[in-house]
Amino acid sequence: EDATSKPVDEHKDKLLDGLLTTGFEERSCLSRYQSVLYRRASPHKPSSHLKTMLRKYEDLHRRCGPYTESYNKTVKKLKSGHHITSTDCNYVVWISYSGLGNRILTLASAFLYALLTDRVLLVDRGKDIDDLFCEPFPEKSWLLPLDFPLNQFNNFDQKSPQCYGNMLKKNHINNSMDSLPPYLYLHLAHDYDDHDKLFFCDQDQSLFRKIPWLIMKTDTYFIPSLFLISSFDQELSKLFPSRETVFHHLGRYLFHPSNAVWGLITRYYEVYLANADARLGIQIRVFDTRPGPFQYVFDQIVACFLKENLLPEVSVQEPIVTPSGNRKSKAVLMTSLSSGYFEMVRNMYWENPTVTGEVIGVYQPSNEEYQQTEKKTHNRKAWAEMYLLSLTDSLITSSWSTFGYVAQGLGGLKPWILYKPENSTAPDPPCSRAMSMEPCFHAPPFYDCKAKTGIDTGAIVPHVRHCEDMSWGLKLV
Ligand code: GDP
Repeated sequence: EDATSKPVDEHKDKLLDGLLTTGFEERSCLSRYQSVLYRRASPHKPSSHLKTMLRKYEDLHRRCGPYTESYNKTVKKLKSGHHITSTDCNYVVWISYSGLGNRILTLASAFLYALLTDRVLLVDRGKDIDDLFCEPFPEKSWLLPLDFPLNQFNNFDQKSPQCYGNMLKKNHINNSMDSLPPYLYLHLAHDYDDHDKLFFCDQDQSLFRKIPWLIMKTDTYFIPSLFLISSFDQELSKLFPSRETVFHHLGRYLFHPSNAVWGLITRYYEVYLANADARLGIQIRVFDTRPGPFQYVFDQIVACFLKENLLPEVSVQEPIVTPSGNRKSKAVLMTSLSSGYFEMVRNMYWENPTVTGEVIGVYQPSNEEYQQTEKKTHNRKAWAEMYLLSLTDSLITSSWSTFGYVAQGLGGLKPWILYKPENSTAPDPPCSRAMSMEPCFHAPPFYDCKAKTGIDTGAIVPHVRHCEDMSWGLKLV
């Protein structure tokens, strides 16, 4: 398929095989229906059950979203603090926490949890969620109203009296109590303890069914462990018969760049990427704290793309004479906090001819030097770059980075992962192909809820395995 010509076909499937719904006003969110003009059609179709459940969720959100009658009633009960008999609508509130890549993965996790438990997802907007993303659900906002009574999310931590793990530890809660609190705080961040991790047990999930408000703080993609909870297992296999497409579908359903970010994406794409014969993304995330760039990282990048035939060798001896015109061109989109690696790769293909005669353009949209999670334009660029990477034909990513996971998932790409360097040396082999396009869950529990003992959760079922880039992580394959 010729991926180069920018498609303008009117009949293109702008609803992504029924993943998206009609009825949104197009101008308020151009990316929602225009993504199809920039991204190749996905070979992965959403299951009809997933589509049914998404439409069902949209109805629920319409009925229970902010300031609906049911919402107002449930908030009133929350304020009273008393034991609540059953409510019309139950909620999961996602707290904005950590870097943008992490937040995109945890939002998808919280949404799938909401789908599985008939809850409505409401989103703490933090500093920038509404600046970065369009509303994903029709009619009612996904943003938690600013006058929500429990707005002090920074105060929630593992030691909070409302923290579920903490309550268990102190024997303040159990399934047979007849007076349960109206809300619980679930601490699912990387530093969570064994009590917090009981979230992933059936018994605890059955308790949560009686709690109308769950407030969740997490910085990691916990979906792989949901597949190990037996009460969710059947529904999950109906929703996702192909397990490695979970984030691919949920991500394209939920995350539509706002018009400001869409402008960053489309202007960049049209100038630097659209006209190439093929596109390669290289996402560089270096966790070495000394100032770079490092020769060993550069060596690793080059070794990877040469070994995997993603870019051609250069000829350093004599210039290769090829007739101009009709030369194949390849655009390389690099992303990194620093500009060093980009300059080195760009110079490599400027100073030397390729042995194939191909011409290689190397581009990097920004080099922000350090992470600035609280800054608006910084996060807009980060989101635009993840999205641009997802529009490439092949992708090289860095180990451990959620930034790369987002790009690979949205793009439906199985990346080549650069292994994490040890002791400032490039590993050999430098990279390898991922088993699936799914993100890695960096902090999974290793607990057998029934036997109440430790267990290797990466060895229970064939579709939940340890990750390529983190031996203790879990991913769907
Ligand atoms: P992770 O730390 O790699 O898992 O990814 P996160 O996105 O959660 O956090 C890293 C943050 O650093 C991003 O959100 C950006 O703010 C910034 N960052 C890291 N790499 C890049 C990059 O290549 N481009 C841009 N613009 N920002 C980056």
